[in-house]
Amino acid sequence: MTTVLFAAPSLWPEYQAELPKALAEAGVQAKVVIDAAPEVVDYIVYAPSSPLQDFTAYHRTKAVLSLWAGVERVVGNKTLTQPLCRMVDPGLTEGMVEWVVGHALRHHLGMDRHIVNPGHVWDPTCPPLAREHPVAVLGMGALGAACAAALRALNFPVTGWSRTEKPGCLHGEDGLRQALASAQIVVLLLPKTPETENLLNGERLALLPQGAVILNPGRGALIDDGALLAALNAGHVGHATLDVFRVEPLPADHPFWTHPRVTVTPHIAADTRAYSAARVIAENIRRGETGEPFLHLVDRARGY
Ligand code: NAP
Repeated sequence: MTTVLFAAPSLWPEYQAELPKALAEAGVQAKVVIDAAPEVVDYIVYAPSSPLQDFTAYHRTKAVLSLWAGVERVVGNKTLTQPLCRMVDPGLTEGMVEWVVGHALRHHLGMDRHIVNPGHVWDPTCPPLAREHPVAVLGMGALGAACAAALRALNFPVTGWSRTEKPGCLHGEDGLRQALASAQIVVLLLPKTPETENLLNGERLALLPQGAVILNPGRGALIDDGALLAALNAGHVGHATLDVFRVEPLPADHPFWTHPRVTVTPHIAADTRAYSAARVIAENIRRGETGEPFLHLVDRARGY
C-alpha cells in the first residue's frame, strides 16, 4: 500500500521519520513516499497549498488526508471525489490554546502599559480578574472548544457559539447577537465558508461593548476589514490581534501593519506537528483499510 505526501518539500524529513513509525504502531503496512504514479497511490497526505490540484488520475486513492484544519481551498475541488478528512491534531490544538490564552491575557491584564512605557510612568492601577472579562468564542469545534475550556479554567466567563445546537453553547443569529453584546474579548475560530464570510461586519461589530478586543486566529475573511478599521478608528473596538488575513503574507501597504490598535501575527497561531499528526493520519489509514468510518471527515456541502 502506498501513501504519498503532497506538501512543501521542507516537511518531508519530518513525515518521512514520523509516518512509518505511526503506521507501524497502528499495525498498518504501508510505504510512505514523496512521489508516486497516480495509479499506485492508496492515500494522499495533503497540504491544500500543494501543487496537486487535479485529482482526476487518482482512481485507486481511498482518501485525501489534509494536514490543515482549514480546508476551504480544497473543499470545492470538483476533481476530488474521494473522502476528504481535515486535520484534528493534538499538537495543533495545544498551539492554538497557547496563542489564544496568551493574547487574551495580554489584553485582559493590559500588559502593554508596562511593556511599552517610555515615560517610566508609575501607574499602580491593579488589573481586573478574569471573572470580570466575558469572552465569546465563535466556533466551538476542535479548536474553539479547547480554547474555551482553557479560558474557563482561568475563570473567564466564556460564551460559545456554533452552527448547531449543543449543550452550553449559543447558536443562530440571536445567539450570536447575545454572545457579542456581552463580550470584552471575541475569539474567532470558525472555518471560512460562504456562511461565515464577513460574519463580523459593521452591524455586528456595533453590538460589542465599547473597547472590546478581537482575536482572530480563524480566517481573515471572517471579518469585514473596512468595518473593522472603522470600528478601531472610532475606538469602539479597543484592539484587534489578527493572525490570518484575506491576502497572506499581509501586503506591506495594508493599514493593519501600522494601525496602533492592531497586532499582526503572521499566521503562526497553530501549526500541525508531524509527531502528533502522523498518529492521526495513521489511524485514518488503519480505518480505511479495515472499512471503519474515517475520523474528521469533511462535509462538502457544509464546507468544513
Ligand atoms: P471545526 O472543528 O470544524 O469547528 C468549526 C466550528 O465552527 C464548529 O463549532 C462549527 O459549528 C462552527 N461553525 C461553522 N460554520 C458556522 C456557522 N455558519 N455559524 C456558526 N458556527 C459555525 O474546526 P477547528 O478544527 O476548530 O478549526 C477552526 C478553524 O481554525 C479552521 O477552519 C481554520 O480556519 C482555523 N485555523 C487556523 C490556524 C492558524 O494557525 N491560524 C490553525 C488551524 C486552524 P458546529 O460545531 O455546529 O458544526
